[in-house]
Amino acid sequence: MTRWLRPPRRVALLSVHTSPLEQPGTGDAGGMNVYIAQTATRMAERGIEVEVFTRATSSELPPVAELAPGVLVRHVHAGPYETLDRSELPAQLCAFTAAVLRTEANNEPGFYDLVHSHYWLSGQVGWLARDRWGVPLVHTAHTLARVKNAALAEGDTPEPRLREIGEQQVVDQADSLVANTEAEAHDLIRRYDADPAKVSTVLPGVDLRQFTPGSRREARSFLGIAPDATVFAFVGRIQPLKAPDVLLHAAAELLSQGLADRSKLVVLVVGGPSGTGLEQPRALQELAVHLGIQDVVRFLPPLPGPSLAQVYRAADAVAVPSHNESFGLVAVEAQACGTPVVATDVGGLRVAVNDGVSGLLVPGHSSVEWANALARLSCPDLHATLSAGAVNHARAFSWDHTTDELIGAYMRAAVAFREVQDQAEVAS
Ligand code: UDP
Repeated sequence: MTRWLRPPRRVALLSVHTSPLEQPGTGDAGGMNVYIAQTATRMAERGIEVEVFTRATSSELPPVAELAPGVLVRHVHAGPYETLDRSELPAQLCAFTAAVLRTEANNEPGFYDLVHSHYWLSGQVGWLARDRWGVPLVHTAHTLARVKNAALAEGDTPEPRLREIGEQQVVDQADSLVANTEAEAHDLIRRYDADPAKVSTVLPGVDLRQFTPGSRREARSFLGIAPDATVFAFVGRIQPLKAPDVLLHAAAELLSQGLADRSKLVVLVVGGPSGTGLEQPRALQELAVHLGIQDVVRFLPPLPGPSLAQVYRAADAVAVPSHNESFGLVAVEAQACGTPVVATDVGGLRVAVNDGVSGLLVPGHSSVEWANALARLSCPDLHATLSAGAVNHARAFSWDHTTDELIGAYMRAAVAFREVQDQAEVAS
């Protein structure tokens, strides 16, 4: 039984549907992968060993890979490799759980002190592991079906009932729930009836070593963009929920209102297809043609951090037009590079962007309002003010802080878990 009031020694971290070793920005790989990789690495630096369990998606993957010193990624066989859609994963949870339990059983008793599940699919596995191992279960939802379904984009498929039910079970079962923002904590309590005493808010971070202000001229030269261009960028998984189409419509609006010079306007769309939006990159290209701005829009594949930092630096503004975001790492990364963000006034973006200080929040998705917000940034004074504000705002977020807060949540979970166990013992 867990009886520590100190950080755990070894954590089993569950990430069933996506691996922290994958390149984020396409498919199922996004902010959660970055979150896991960054916090696991920092936990290991603080002496906590981390083992991440994720589903093997290729026969080429080794059974175990090292993500960083002290962080192992275990590739679990559960269903066919490449051909399994996320919607088919619930049927593979038994196979996945069996492999996780077997791994622990092959080690000395009490091998893992705590299990931390990311996303509801992993929560289902963590629930059983927690019961079997007698350790606390900490769960981070990252997104919530009921919140997502309340803000569906056109063309988006609602999250199935199956997920809502599974998510509710995990909320009920977890010893501790970690929310990305106060708004998400509120959603857990209001929409899932979570016990407020179990919910901790831990803000995600940003890698301030990678995402730094730099020369805009150099960044533009790296990307083959003229130094005097007007550049707007969208970065992220291409799916209806992220609404990259809003930026395209706004660019067309800027041109039709004469607020931008066609020969100088560049719209960058960086990222790959994701989930139900698999058709979306082609649809976006068709939209660009339909709007008559195909000469202005450039599509780039998902990029690793250093190249992404150049995209952020090259841009006059980064647009985050999502219908909803649990947080929005892209917004903070762009600001850390000194680029103001224009984002929708929803969810975690209200925390990630300080409206009027580090960027602009736009209510809704009207092309006219988005075009006007982007046009406002052509004023050099406002741009310089927001750019300085952006760097300052981003400094408030750090993965070190996130990791320390997570460890605090682990310790509180262990205490709560022990109390429940003690009460159960007394009752029997
Ligand atoms: N990302 C990346 N390369 C890309 C596009 C995105 O590495 O080409 C990363 C980006 O740096 C960020 C993450 O993917 O850390 C996206 O996180 P965010 O919270 O913005 O969105 P999510 O994918 O979680 O919905």
